[in-house]
Amino acid sequence: MAVIPLCHQCGTCCRKGGPALHQEDLELLDRLGLASFVCLRKGEPAHDPRVDAVRPLSQEVIKIRGKEKGWECLYYDKVVSGCTIYQDRPLECRVLSCKDSHPLFEAMKRPYLQRKDFIQQGSALWACIQSHEQEFPVNNVLPLATRSRQEKQHIPKELDQIFRAEIAYRLTLGDYVQAKDEDLWPYLGRPLWLVLAPYDSRFLEYGKI
Ligand code: SF4
Repeated sequence: MAVIPLCHQCGTCCRKGGPALHQEDLELLDRLGLASFVCLRKGEPAHDPRVDAVRPLSQEVIKIRGKEKGWECLYYDKVVSGCTIYQDRPLECRVLSCKDSHPLFEAMKRPYLQRKDFIQQGSALWACIQSHEQEFPVNNVLPLATRSRQEKQHIPKELDQIFRAEIAYRLTLGDYVQAKDEDLWPYLGRPLWLVLAPYDSRFLEYGKI
């Protein structure tokens, strides 16, 4: 069995962002509550440590949320430079070492936790998730976001319409279940304008709608 190098708990990894969860982490959802997590949908740009580059996700993942608008892990306490859920930390955190990436890369081959693992299929919520995916898939919008960055004059009309339609979809659902947009993040992921803001910072203006 591979020996996991000792983690010195310097907090560098935790400040860069919480881990993606795997099937082994399922019970953490109950223990910590779904509000601590966010779904990153298929196609979202994310850092891949195997190639040290940002690229679109090939499948959706569930991730521990960042604090406020950043990605520093919700459970990282910078005062003591430590993990506040250390005994229960997710699989990727347990195998992580800055001296040897191999155990992490092996863990990343294990099945990721996804929404279908904790949301009842056939439920009204599942139907909302599916209709949201069909109407607003990230992959279809990526080329428009890239084009927007190249067009300095204005955001492409088609993209503007998609952003506004998705905002309306989320507002309607949020009103119906009496939830803020952030409460929807484990179920619908983050709004498209926020997901794609790394391509064009002008998209952040949609947060004022
Ligand atoms: S769960 Fe703990 S060890 Fe993992 S990234 Fe968050 S603070 Fe760090």
